[in-house]
Amino acid sequence: MQRYDCLVIGAGFAGATVAGELARAGKKVLVLERRPHVGGNAYDCLDDHGVLIHKYGPHIFHTNDKRVFEYLSQYTDWLDYQHRVVANVPKDGAPRERQEYPVPFNLTSLETAFGPEKGRALGEKLISAYGAEKKVTILELRQSKDPEIAALADYVYDHVFVQYTMKQWGQTPEEIDPNTTARVPVFLSRDDRYFQDKYQGMPIEGYTPLFQKLLRHPNITLKLSADARRHLSLEAGKLLLDGEPFDGAVVYTGQADELFDFQFGPLPYRTLDFQFETWQEQLPGKPVPAGRRPLPAGEFYQTHATVNYTMDKPYTRITEFKRLTGQDLPGLTTIMKEHSRSYTGAPGEIPYYAIINEENNALYAKYKAEAERYPDLRLLGRLAEYKYYNMDAIVGRALALADELLGR
Ligand code: FAD
Ligand code: UDP
Repeated sequence: MQRYDCLVIGAGFAGATVAGELARAGKKVLVLERRPHVGGNAYDCLDDHGVLIHKYGPHIFHTNDKRVFEYLSQYTDWLDYQHRVVANVPKDGAPRERQEYPVPFNLTSLETAFGPEKGRALGEKLISAYGAEKKVTILELRQSKDPEIAALADYVYDHVFVQYTMKQWGQTPEEIDPNTTARVPVFLSRDDRYFQDKYQGMPIEGYTPLFQKLLRHPNITLKLSADARRHLSLEAGKLLLDGEPFDGAVVYTGQADELFDFQFGPLPYRTLDFQFETWQEQLPGKPVPAGRRPLPAGEFYQTHATVNYTMDKPYTRITEFKRLTGQDLPGLTTIMKEHSRSYTGAPGEIPYYAIINEENNALYAKYKAEAERYPDLRLLGRLAEYKYYNMDAIVGRALALADELLGR
């Protein structure tokens, strides 16, 4: 007899949300997760120094979707956190010195880069061309016929976008999907937050406890370190679980190409290498223990939770976790430098970012068509749908799929 009504592959935001909803509606759900932990890329944990880190990259929750916010708020309280990011660049005319200004590039950034007078005049000009509080993408700004605005657009392109995008994608802003740079538009405002969404914050105890609560239900059987490739097989329109026909819904949140043994070729991705460093304040007579680096002065490594290196350095950005999580750690801090490169599929590599373009979308469409031959199989999530989704979008899509599967 079949013991489960539904099978969910992956325990990131997509899988955990669907599993949680189905289970609470009375379905028996089996969740297979190949990592030894829940949370997918949003997983967080304490490092060897007791610092709460995001193992797979910094995750900041933000949404305008009330349903998603209220849904997750059943499983966590929130630390009121508004994300602010600066670009750290060599100073024009004094390249040995550095300066920082807000990203998205805004009216404050203008005044920092060009000085108060010229910066203000440029800001006024931009506002009369596009409107106050407007967001203008860098590619749109570069289309301006006004020579002064065009020169400014070139400045922002050179100082904020081109090198960062080359590091992140190995391609220029013109070569990548325009929706990607549009995530970080020039903002004709003094609002220096990275996101303007209505709801923003960090899960107060971290992401992992949120996932544990979401998945804690008598109707959910969670198997960790369980790769679906060892349990699920697809044969001529039929889904088999451990060799037995499975006729419930199967929600798959892993890579679409891997599910079908890469039969049409691998989908291209970017992967990341994370370089973690722990720094400790140097106090007289107290040597810094092995494995930590001496922090020259004070509590923190850098001025903001995330500092983007938009003109130089091999990494794209540095994140200082305690500035994100609010963890109280006198004199101790862990930071992470992000290095991006092509995903090769080598063991242990993680496909973090789909490379969205026409050719890759067409390849993905072949896998999607293959999946559609299995009526009970649903592809959901950032990997399975080959999209650049934020966490809130994934939760929204997962709730909609659960509604559909439950006939609500
Ligand atoms: P994932 O989190 O990737 O989960 C998929 C899970 O499926 C994984 O745990 C994987 O191990 C498992 N799996 C795959 N194949 C199998 C298999 N064969 N068998 C069993 N299990 C399998 N979003 C934001 O909103 N804010 C942010 O600040 C933010 N920062 C980000 C930073 C980085 C560096 C990255 C890469 C993403 C960021 N995101 C952010 C996006 C966010 O990570 C995703 O929206 C979210 O994690 C997607 O959830 P998911 O469940 O679709 O995928
Ligand atoms: N970007 C940039 N400079 C920056 C920040 C972003 O060029 O300082 C571009 C870059 O192409 C990046 C994209 O905007 O990939 C989206 O940035 P976002 O911060 O949203 O990326 P994520 O946090 O998802 O990696």
